[in-house]
Amino acid sequence: MTRLVTATTRMAAVIGDPVRHSLSPVIHNAGFEALAIDGVYVALPVGAGQAGAAVEAMRLFDWYGLSVTMPHKQAVMAACDEVTDTAKTINAVNCVFWRDGKVVGDSTDGTGWVRGLHADLGLSPNGLKCVLVGAGGAATAIAHILPAAGAAELAVINRTAATAAAVADLAGRIGRVGSIDDLSDADLVINATPLGMGSTDHADKVPVDVSLLKDDAVVSDLIYHPAETRLLAQARERGLRCQNGLAMLVHQAVVAFEHWTGSKAPVEAMTDAVQSSLRSR
Ligand code: NAP
Repeated sequence: MTRLVTATTRMAAVIGDPVRHSLSPVIHNAGFEALAIDGVYVALPVGAGQAGAAVEAMRLFDWYGLSVTMPHKQAVMAACDEVTDTAKTINAVNCVFWRDGKVVGDSTDGTGWVRGLHADLGLSPNGLKCVLVGAGGAATAIAHILPAAGAAELAVINRTAATAAAVADLAGRIGRVGSIDDLSDADLVINATPLGMGSTDHADKVPVDVSLLKDDAVVSDLIYHPAETRLLAQARERGLRCQNGLAMLVHQAVVAFEHWTGSKAPVEAMTDAVQSSLRSR
């Protein structure tokens, strides 16, 4: 980094526990640098029960804002002056920013995923039959945004049936609990489980059998480490269009960066920075 941190430098931070593994500092500092913004982004380990104190620090020091990760995505809401409808509905905040003198909590994951799908594949969920595998935090954000993005149908498949139903409900009339039978005519299959994630017991697992998919199906795997999961390798071998989770990671940050700075985020610089950081891991 060539920028100097000075007495006028304004801060932004990710709060969470653990947080030292976070790629957010790399992404956001690349954004500040590319736009010559006098800002710096750091990772702050903040333990359970301390989200409110972190938001008070943001107010006191007039930080740009906060990224929020586990275990604070719910608790931080009480410390905000306002919470966006999206964050309220999915019961999670991953970004805190200033708007008209108020501290606002938002969730940028759903928008980040839609923008990332477009950035990687030039694709919109509009009119597509979607199958979402998994029903955790990431799946929740995606299920909520799919109706607004114009998806025709959403089938949610999950190990635990009760959470699949709750996530399907977020998609309103287009959502329902699905089964493996939904794969054969799915236009877009999204992996929102950790199956395939590097450095875990799941690294060599696949969430779905790609041989069940039709020839023009698209696969969106939310995992970005490794860059090519087993699922993506198999999808590519079958000639399917696919993307990993890097674009979602970058674009959820892009939305936050734009909330904080009011500037159009330098997507390419942010993407290059995180790619090079991942390569060196
Ligand atoms: P989460 O809240 O813990 O949810 C995990 C989901 O995966 C749950 O539905 C869980 O099922 C299912 N699951 C976990 N282990 C499983 C197994 N062994 N077999 C079958 N299903 C299993 O996690 P999350 O935050 O939503 O993250 C999900 C994935 O998305 C992770 O790979 C994460 O890295 C990725 N992600 C990427 C981004 C990005 O920016 N690219 C952002 C967020 C998340 P149960 O309900 O049955 O427990």
